[in-house]
Amino acid sequence: MNKSLFLKTFFSYLLIMALVLLLVFLFASGIIENQYRENVQRGLGQLAASLQRNFVPLLAARDTAALDVLVKELGKETDARLTVIATDGRVLADSEGDPRHMENHADRPEFVLAMQGKPAEFSRLSSTLHRAMLYRAVPIRRDGRVIGVLRLSLFVSAIEQMLVPARRKINILLAVLSAIALVLAFLYARYLTAPIKRLTQAAHQVAGGDFSPRVRIDRRDELRQLADAFNHMVEQQGALLESVQRQQLELETILASIGEGLLVLDRDGKIILANQSFKKMCLQPECPGRPYWEMLRDSRLNELIKRSLETRQDSRGELDINDGVYLVHVSPLPGEGPLIVTFSDISEYKRLERIKRDFVSNLSHELRTPLTAIKGFVETLAEESSAQNRNYLDIINRHTDRLVNMINDLLTLSEMEEPRMRLEKKRIDLLKLVDNVAIIFAGRCREKNIHMEVDAGANLPAFFGDPFRLEQLFINLVDNAIKYTEHGEIRVSLAKREGEIEIRVRDSGPGIATEHLPRIFERFYVVDRSRSRQQGGTGLGLAIAKHIVLLHDGRIEAVSQPGQGTEFIITLPLVPEA
Ligand code: ADP
Repeated sequence: MNKSLFLKTFFSYLLIMALVLLLVFLFASGIIENQYRENVQRGLGQLAASLQRNFVPLLAARDTAALDVLVKELGKETDARLTVIATDGRVLADSEGDPRHMENHADRPEFVLAMQGKPAEFSRLSSTLHRAMLYRAVPIRRDGRVIGVLRLSLFVSAIEQMLVPARRKINILLAVLSAIALVLAFLYARYLTAPIKRLTQAAHQVAGGDFSPRVRIDRRDELRQLADAFNHMVEQQGALLESVQRQQLELETILASIGEGLLVLDRDGKIILANQSFKKMCLQPECPGRPYWEMLRDSRLNELIKRSLETRQDSRGELDINDGVYLVHVSPLPGEGPLIVTFSDISEYKRLERIKRDFVSNLSHELRTPLTAIKGFVETLAEESSAQNRNYLDIINRHTDRLVNMINDLLTLSEMEEPRMRLEKKRIDLLKLVDNVAIIFAGRCREKNIHMEVDAGANLPAFFGDPFRLEQLFINLVDNAIKYTEHGEIRVSLAKREGEIEIRVRDSGPGIATEHLPRIFERFYVVDRSRSRQQGGTGLGLAIAKHIVLLHDGRIEAVSQPGQGTEFIITLPLVPEA
């Protein structure tokens, strides 16, 4: 490009110079030649005017011989041919020839005009010599009367011949000017393109990652402005790159130092970035550019990533990777951005959880046997005791019952938290299951004068789940509803929604204040401890209910306001039978 720009500039400039020179040459040489011709003609006229006087005496004396001698003498002194013609057209004397052999010149136009007293000039073909000639004729006067005509003639070729040296000089001048134009065109093209060449070289260097080149142009034109702008841009780019590199280094240091494994994936699952902790976790030193499944083969991870890619929503789950347990969080960046996958090592937390679970489970088992024995003996003692003692024994019995309930609930919970716990899933008619639960509580409803109603929308599909656990879920919810409702009604409704079944358990009880709602599913969280105790509550019923719902991949929430009753909404996804 640079070369062609140089050549383009060079040849354009050269062409313009050549055209200008040519025009100047044509114009100037035309003017010069015309001027020269005019000078010759003027000289010829002046010569004729000054010479004609010499011939007057001889012409008046009709001494043609002397006249011819004079004409021949004067003819030698000038470059022109001299002819003296009588008024009747006869040639009396001629500097180049013998007048006696020359024809009558009465019809020559210059002669005719001179005879009329006017000096005449003609350029025409000589009828005697058959060559182009320039004629100048003037009348020869004596006492104001025309007594003859003096004619001066020059070969046009002679005039042309005289122009040859002038033309040669002009040609030499043209050649010198052309050479100067050539050199100037070359210098000008170089002057114009050299900075561009330097700028191009510098731009190539910058493109190659070297931000050091600066282009200095010592002139005050647009190219200087371009060079200044280029230098400024390179400076800015260099500073920007430096800051980006520094930030990247900082980011890499931060990413390397965090304990969590971090993975950035593109849409095709290829690793864009992986931190040190991830590489250590999957025992692979080199990751970027490779698909994640080459690093970690785990169907659960594939599922989480696939789900996040499809829904562009966060997804999380627990994975066992190389003897450790990790909480994996897949989070897609907005738009079509990459996926961020984090791996938090929760092995220690899981270990402590297992210890706690084992402890609770062992303790519950250990407590259940002595408690059963205490309960048996209290009942035996009660049969043989006085009325006063029986009252105390009843209190002991009630508290023992509460302890047994609590231990049973704790055992149920730790059983459900067991990772190896499998649901015994079957096809269930949920309406029938809820109806059976209602039958269990029919007596208590009657006692408390509570009206219980179960209704289901049309086309309620069969649900694939664990009937034993689901029954426990509804028992806990209905039991709570009866426990906390003094009178009024309880309504359980089932309905099919898009891809799921929605169950609502609603009562007309005292309701729950908003500040307690987020916490009621926690273990041992009770709103009113004395009331819960009085009702034989353990504070574990809703924790168990939530666990059962989660084991079925569902959701549970409570909607309530004090004095407005409480509604538990359970949503269970309809899954294909496995
Ligand atoms: P508890 O054994 O005490 O009933 P739960 O875990 O079953 O324990 O319930 C936790 C707390 O939530 C209860 O103590 C009670 O305060 C509140 N609660 C549960 N169900 C209802 C309800 N239907 N109406 C009002 N409060 C309720």
